[in-house]
Amino acid sequence: MTLAEPTTTPATGPGESTVRPDWVTDARLASLTRWVAVPASGGDGTLAATAPYDGRPTASVPAGVPEDVAAAVDLARAAQPAWAELSFEDRAAVVLRFHDLLVERQDEVMDLIQWEMGKARFHAWQEVLQVANLARHYARRGASYLADRKVRGAMPGLTSAREVRVPQGVVGIISPWNYPLYLGVGDTIPALLAGNAVLGKADPQTPLTLLWTRALMAEAGLPEHVWQVVAGPGAAIGEAVVDHVDYVAFTGSTATGRTVAERAARRLIGASLELGGKNPLIVRADADLDLAARGTVAAAFANTGQMCIHIERVIVDGSVYEEFRERLLALTSGQKVGQTFDFGCDVGSLASAAQLEKVEAHVADAVAKGATVLAGGRARPDLGPCCYAPTVLEGVTEEMDVCLGETFGPVLALYRAEGDEEALAIANQGSAGLSASVFSRDVGAADALARRIRAGSVNINDGAALAAGSIEAGMGGRGDSGLGRRHGAEGIRKYTESQTIAASRIGPVGPPPGMALERFVAMGNGQLRLLRRLRVR
Ligand code: NAD
Repeated sequence: MTLAEPTTTPATGPGESTVRPDWVTDARLASLTRWVAVPASGGDGTLAATAPYDGRPTASVPAGVPEDVAAAVDLARAAQPAWAELSFEDRAAVVLRFHDLLVERQDEVMDLIQWEMGKARFHAWQEVLQVANLARHYARRGASYLADRKVRGAMPGLTSAREVRVPQGVVGIISPWNYPLYLGVGDTIPALLAGNAVLGKADPQTPLTLLWTRALMAEAGLPEHVWQVVAGPGAAIGEAVVDHVDYVAFTGSTATGRTVAERAARRLIGASLELGGKNPLIVRADADLDLAARGTVAAAFANTGQMCIHIERVIVDGSVYEEFRERLLALTSGQKVGQTFDFGCDVGSLASAAQLEKVEAHVADAVAKGATVLAGGRARPDLGPCCYAPTVLEGVTEEMDVCLGETFGPVLALYRAEGDEEALAIANQGSAGLSASVFSRDVGAADALARRIRAGSVNINDGAALAAGSIEAGMGGRGDSGLGRRHGAEGIRKYTESQTIAASRIGPVGPPPGMALERFVAMGNGQLRLLRRLRVR
């Protein structure tokens, strides 16, 4: 499709987005919005999302009220047992068909992602890649992650025990706008495969992407009520989700994550919390500086810097600082910023005027307090209303908001450190602990350093994508960056409760009828000593 000329100021008045993808006809929109669960109230108005490329409204998506959430959960709860009764293979077949449809129709969803949140097309494709990988992985490996675990019985030989996994019931998935496909559906797939029904809360900025995947899942054969999607204002609808589901997987800011955790705790339901970061990248003295500069640029400006694991702090050994800085700045200034529905741009638009404002405020505050702008440092309205130049700052100090507060934009700060210990101290500053990275030719030394960084994932000789793409391993945060993990075994087991089933061939454990308790206790003590001597685990 072709794009309208970039506007120099966001359009604010009524009028449809001029960059709506051609294939998104009114009929097609209606076929997507039918998947919003608004059974009770008939909706409470519509979501007011705007396309970052032209600042005009995207599509009218009905917004629900908390009663709609309750009604959607009832439908999901009623549908869940039949879904859970299917064999894992039957559920996996639906997910594998979804995989194939997603790969085949990827252009559609990339168009929607770009229209709704403005990222570069390559970063939209990375969402497709990640979700397809997760779908295939969990469909193929999920059964082994959830397999029964046989353990020794209380009376070996006479009794047996096993741990089995039962679905939580209805899982709530609350996701943000920055990865509407990956975070909206990537967490849903393992929840469904584990036999749950899912209540997904679409972010008000990006409902269409989630609705598109919901429609695709229906085409792949998912029964109608097993995955409900609700849309509406974050607080009212999000809180109602937490109030009604049996487990909640939340991704978003640390501030909201805390309120979700408190609410879930009151109901004694489990919660996983994937929250914000302030991720450091360390360049050791022995690093390959070309690779390090390339990795930094990719990780700092990916998704226009609106990625939880993107790099905002780069800590460079003093012996190579100037040389690294030169290479970094050369690559940064070569980044092509813009908004096109093809692969022509490296860095896309920010998602909204609010994001742009936040990024501008962080940079202005840093500059006012003495930081130096080495690259970028300004909006690019000539390229699009929410475009911002990839930015490198130097001389950032603790009193600046950008120092330890998440910017969530294409802005990184350079720090100089004399040796690993100082680099480590800077990396571990603050309360976040999501992702980090170390560049070094000595992978062993980098590994030793990685273990001392407070972060849920550490990438060696890559900025961010390596650990996230290693989907058999858990991904999540420490400290203020969250609780729990997605991906790998934990990414599906969290959607189940473990249940212990113990069986006896000899009836109830305890002294047989007629045996004196003293004798039974003496036998028990003898057994304890024997087990200890035999080093039984
Ligand atoms: P946010 O917390 O404002 O919103 C996230 C979601 O929560 C949205 O769907 C929103 O509507 C909903 N919500 C808002 N208030 C709620 C409430 N009171 N109860 C329940 N739900 C509520 O987050 P945001 O600013 O839109 O997203 C960006 C943040 O998400 C960044 O901090 C980023 O680092 C973080 N993030 C983390 C990860 C991760 O995996 N750790 C991934 C992506 C984004």
